[in-house]
Amino acid sequence: MTDSPLPNCPKCSCEFTYEMDGLYVCPECAHEWAEIVAEEDDLEVVIKDANGVVLKDGDTVTVIKDLKVKGSSSVVKVGTKVKNIRLVAGDHDIDCKIPGIGAMGLKSEFVKKIS
Ligand SMILES: [Zn+2]
Repeated sequence: MTDSPLPNCPKCSCEFTYEMDGLYVCPECAHEWAEIVAEEDDLEVVIKDANGVVLKDGDTVTVIKDLKVKGSSSVVKVGTKVKNIRLVAGDHDIDCKIPGIGAMGLKSEFVKKIS
């Protein structure tokens, strides 16, 4: 038993629902339904660019400042167009491939969405 109140029946709004075998049961109309469990892991992370525009997988962005590439002498120049980004969790929240440099992670705060 939980302390939280049981939900009313979604079919007839009956308040006298009870729980049985992991299902909610309505004594009025005999409707049975599963408990809806909020899956917090499924919450989509909203990643925004430097202007606060929400980014999506597959977007094209430009880099708004010179970015040194970790572990190499390469620099991703301001204005570099990056196609087909992929959003990931973490500090560098954009996964992408940059022509001439290769796969790398970018921070969303240093890019601007262009399409
Ligand atoms: Zn009912």
